Amino acid sequence: MDRRVRVRFAPSPTGALHIGGVRTALYNYLFAKKHGGDFILRIEDTDQTRFVPGAEAYIIESLKWLSISPIEGVGFGDGPHAPYRQSERKPLYKNYVMQLLDAGHAYYAFDTPEELEAMRDRLKASNVDAKYDAITRGSMKNSLTLSEDEVNKRLTNGDAYVIRIKLPRKEEVKFHDEIRGWVSFNTSQMDDKVLYKSDGMPTYHMANVVDDYLMQISHVIRGEEWLPSAPLHVLLYRYLGWEAQMPKFAHLPLLLKPEGNGKLSKRDGDRLGFPVFPLYWKDPQTGDVSSGYRESGYLPEAVVNLLAFLGWNPGTQQELFSLEELADAFSLERVSKSGAKFDLNKAKWFNQQYIRKTDNHLIAEELGKQAKVHLGEHFEKYNAAYILETAKLVKEKITFTADLWSYANYFFETPVMYDEQVIRKKWNDKSQMVLEQIAEQIAQSNTFDASLLENSYNNVLAQNGIASKDFLQLFRVCLTGVAGGPPLFEIGQLLGKDETYKRILNAIPSILKIIQS
Ligand code: GLU
Repeated sequence: MDRRVRVRFAPSPTGALHIGGVRTALYNYLFAKKHGGDFILRIEDTDQTRFVPGAEAYIIESLKWLSISPIEGVGFGDGPHAPYRQSERKPLYKNYVMQLLDAGHAYYAFDTPEELEAMRDRLKASNVDAKYDAITRGSMKNSLTLSEDEVNKRLTNGDAYVIRIKLPRKEEVKFHDEIRGWVSFNTSQMDDKVLYKSDGMPTYHMANVVDDYLMQISHVIRGEEWLPSAPLHVLLYRYLGWEAQMPKFAHLPLLLKPEGNGKLSKRDGDRLGFPVFPLYWKDPQTGDVSSGYRESGYLPEAVVNLLAFLGWNPGTQQELFSLEELADAFSLERVSKSGAKFDLNKAKWFNQQYIRKTDNHLIAEELGKQAKVHLGEHFEKYNAAYILETAKLVKEKITFTADLWSYANYFFETPVMYDEQVIRKKWNDKSQMVLEQIAEQIAQSNTFDASLLENSYNNVLAQNGIASKDFLQLFRVCLTGVAGGPPLFEIGQLLGKDETYKRILNAIPSILKIIQS
């Protein structure tokens, strides 16, 4: 690459950051890392009407949680291009707008909202696309139709105005997108977008292009929804004389609903039970609450991994990647053009994999916390080693750390409920006797561990002419109450000889009650 790679994530603080936005940040981060470049966080807050308090802090916290760390930017320390909040860069933009005005690539427009509305109604009535463009601007109140005197008078009067780009009537704007290849738009499809307002604020388009230029951004990697804005940006670079410094564009595919029909929204998350935001968020205006990946028990490494795979793949079978490994493997060439469907089961699978990789002591710590809540003072009976061994066994089974207790409770409490389905299916005339014989063998042995339990079990079943596997689930239900879980004989070892013995015998009357009911 001939130019230093500098990329930016440029969200607008208009609400909670959607995971699609997080993925954009991630791809920018990975691209910068891969090429030894810089990743910047810029806050695009020029539209004060859409500003939502707390949204900026939310963006920063989300990136920190996921370790998608910008080298410069709001919340991450100033670099040579500070400030990174566009509202604080306000005085900077005017010169460039003036440059466009002087060169005849922009013009003042004084139309009131009512006049604009009337124009739109008129055009709609005749079934024409309502745009402020090369055709309609001729009949509107702007510096192209009003006399110079009139324009100056209005400006000195302090009349409200906007400055619009003056697009050619019919011109092909072509640019190369790193993901989509050559893309072309015709200016006849575009409108004379507002670049600047009389309150001194640039709009998104103007501020975005000026800042990308000033911050020496080499690649603009952003969501597909910005693709229609790209030709306008290309023209701005051209009109400002910055074509040689124009960044390369890469528009990322949309994140789609699991069904694939349209963009993934908060409503889909609510409907199907998964978060579409990295963190919990309470909208300060509506009071609306949204769940977050963090609060739902996802590990940050899992979220990074699953987001990386929504729109990119390494071209190999490997699915588990740390952030560093992703940075090594990432390339824009392997980002797909078509939308990426969100897959909840895959998301859960990623989380499960990362829980398995988590240090046993951390899992034990969390299990201890949950057990304490449920057991109160009885918790004191269990020592750290017991909790650690339980954590090791249960960790293989859970999807979220919040599930620990529900999978581990029988390590701490004798079951009072027994899986009825298993009992009804598996219990027969011989079952009670088999259980009693196993209990007896346990009682008679001097030692006790998983293999002793397994041997006792196998011996008794062989003596009774029953295949081991035919009784195992019932035996599991006697010890744990539930149909599935970690390797059964290891559970027995952890429970210990006395407790295992007791549980087998305890289960019999409860099971008989179920059978007789
Ligand atoms: N402020 C825009 C947004 O909210 C940035 C788009 C871009 O990256 O150019 O997504």
